[in-house]
Amino acid sequence: MTGWIDRQTQAAIDATREDVAALHAELVRYGLVVWTGGNVSGRVPGTDLFVIKPSGVSYDDLTPENQIVCRLDGTVLEGTPGSDRSPSSDTAAHAYVYRTMPHVGGVVHTHSTYATAWAARGEAIPCVITAMADEFGGEIPVGPFAIIGDESIGEGIVATLTGHRSRAVLMQNHGVFTIGTDARDAVKAAVMTEDVARTVHITRQLGEPIPIPQQSIDALFDRYQNVYGQKPAGELK
Ligand SMILES: [Zn+2]
Repeated sequence: MTGWIDRQTQAAIDATREDVAALHAELVRYGLVVWTGGNVSGRVPGTDLFVIKPSGVSYDDLTPENQIVCRLDGTVLEGTPGSDRSPSSDTAAHAYVYRTMPHVGGVVHTHSTYATAWAARGEAIPCVITAMADEFGGEIPVGPFAIIGDESIGEGIVATLTGHRSRAVLMQNHGVFTIGTDARDAVKAAVMTEDVARTVHITRQLGEPIPIPQQSIDALFDRYQNVYGQKPAGELK
């Protein structure tokens, strides 16, 4: 798929570029990233492509045009705007998730402070607040320690989140990866992960959190996913 892109695909790529570029500002706004760390990607609907940010470019300089279009094997689609740059160093992990989880439309990675502090200790965040039951349906699990550069991070994300309600995983000693129905949904999961990581951390400083009974977690999750809001978020499993 080089050289010629039909109009419908081009429109879908352009819309995804806009979304992904704009959503990086949300990572900054919510204090989830420093310098150029962290990244958002979005699957281009109806294609085997995704859009991700270029590596090492300041958040202030991200535009729809300099986002990079990749195939699901993580290679850059030549001849498209931005293709002269290298994609995010986490591209292989994002690509692995899109290849193996076809229902996922967005992936986010951050080293947000509180969540990464849980990751550094290799401890799952227990589900002890109702907002967490709503959003994640249980604990936020820990994935394996994995070195950047091959597929081991992607494998760890998929192995941990497959069959799990959580859209977020704490990769041990590293940071947060989230998945979503689209890039915005994955960004929301990243924002909520840091929020609950902070709250449960502070709770721990004050004493032992009170567990929420499993049946209440189930009821909260079901209600939030299926009833709450303007339209269902769509449950990811
Ligand atoms: Zn990282």
